Amino acid sequence: MAAEVLVEHGLSVSVYDAMPSAGRKFLQAGRGGLNISHSLHIDDFLHNYNEASTWLAPMVRAFDASAIQSWMRSLGIDSFVGSSGRIFPTEKKAAPLLRAWLHRLKQSGVVFHMKHRFVGWQGQALSLDTPTGQKTIASDAMVLALGGASWPQLGSKGDWLDMFARLGIEVAPFRPANCSFNVVWSEYMQQQHAGSPIKPVALVYEDAHGQSYRRQGELMLSLSGLEGGLIYGYSALLREAIADNGPQTIHLDLLPSLSLDHVRQKLMQAPQRLSLSNKLTTALKLSAVKVALIQESLKGEASKASLKIVAERLKHYPIQLMGTGPLAEAISSAGGVKATALDERLMLKVKPGVFCVGEMLDWEAPTGGYLLTASLATARWGAQGVVSWLNRV
Ligand SMILES: Cc1cc2nc3c(=O)[nH]c(=O)nc-3n(C[C@H](O)[C@H](O)[C@H](O)COP(=O)(O)OP(=O)(O)OC[C@H]3O[C@@H](n4cnc5c(N)ncnc54)[C@H](O)[C@@H]3O)c2cc1C
Repeated sequence: MAAEVLVEHGLSVSVYDAMPSAGRKFLQAGRGGLNISHSLHIDDFLHNYNEASTWLAPMVRAFDASAIQSWMRSLGIDSFVGSSGRIFPTEKKAAPLLRAWLHRLKQSGVVFHMKHRFVGWQGQALSLDTPTGQKTIASDAMVLALGGASWPQLGSKGDWLDMFARLGIEVAPFRPANCSFNVVWSEYMQQQHAGSPIKPVALVYEDAHGQSYRRQGELMLSLSGLEGGLIYGYSALLREAIADNGPQTIHLDLLPSLSLDHVRQKLMQAPQRLSLSNKLTTALKLSAVKVALIQESLKGEASKASLKIVAERLKHYPIQLMGTGPLAEAISSAGGVKATALDERLMLKVKPGVFCVGEMLDWEAPTGGYLLTASLATARWGAQGVVSWLNRV
């Protein structure tokens, strides 16, 4: 996106990328439907960037959801707003959009050099590892868009962070965002229920200040814990709470649309001769994984547990989160170049002429199209910064 803005301003632009082809993470995002933005009102949209919303606001306002939709239209790709307000290209795929985009960039004169890994600077010049050895490239300005540190197999490894720190560029360590959380499940749960969706379900959490959070959605029980959009949305809050205070307990409401009284009544009305698991499946239509969770929490005491306790457990099921899942498997990462390392044009204060954009900057957001929107918007902003910097004299 930065290349697009720069070439529109008549500049000569080269793109260097470590991978054999461009946009691999963008393509991967397309496998999940390419949720490119969100139709929320811009003020609410910006809340999703938490503390970073202050400095990201002018950039995202300048290239918001409707600007992204017109930009896609200019590439021949229509979009639609899904029932949750999320915006997708009509076919929910990234490949046609990426293909049209790369074609237009190349036609406009942008030159792509693949398998060129940026490894630092030699003086002001760019130092690159290439299949034919090390190259040094001088340029009037450069935009770095090195990505975050999740899914490193797609090209963004975050391995530049220490080098940046040594050069005096303020950086924050990479942490998983939109990530899974670790739970110690029994062998039985792992063998029988790993991969099972837990839905519908509400996640309830009370933080150290007594503030409570509740949201409904879907989870998946994995071998090592919990995954899915519902917990991803809480990942920043839970990750920081675990870092500060150790393992955190969340509660699941396994029957979010029924009140506690209603659950209790239904259980009481079930024929007494039925076993507890039969009562749960017939009276409450509970899925196998939810029944197993209840059985596990009663630890073999299921037959003795009163229905009152079972009803309470169904509405308020405690799960201890031990830590985050691996950074490499997270959808995105927090951390990277801090806003304080940059001027208002996104130029590095200690490296005049070098601009940083996208997920390599220290901001995070939940899934919902906010990640791609801020990546695209900061890239446009940084490129406009290059233009103003080059025109300064
Ligand atoms: C599975 C998955 C699904 C996702 N789904 C969505 C979604 O639906 N909606 C959404 O908004 N976001 C989604 N995201 C997040 C989104 O894809 C990223 O936030 C976005 O791609 C970040 O863009 P970027 O250009 O900053 O970094 P990247 O897309 O990571 O691109 C960085 C580029 O820099 C190159 N590079 C890195 N280091 C070097 C180096 N040293 N030298 C040369 N080149 C280098 C990489 O090869 C890569 O091509 C998803 C992410 C994943 C992993």
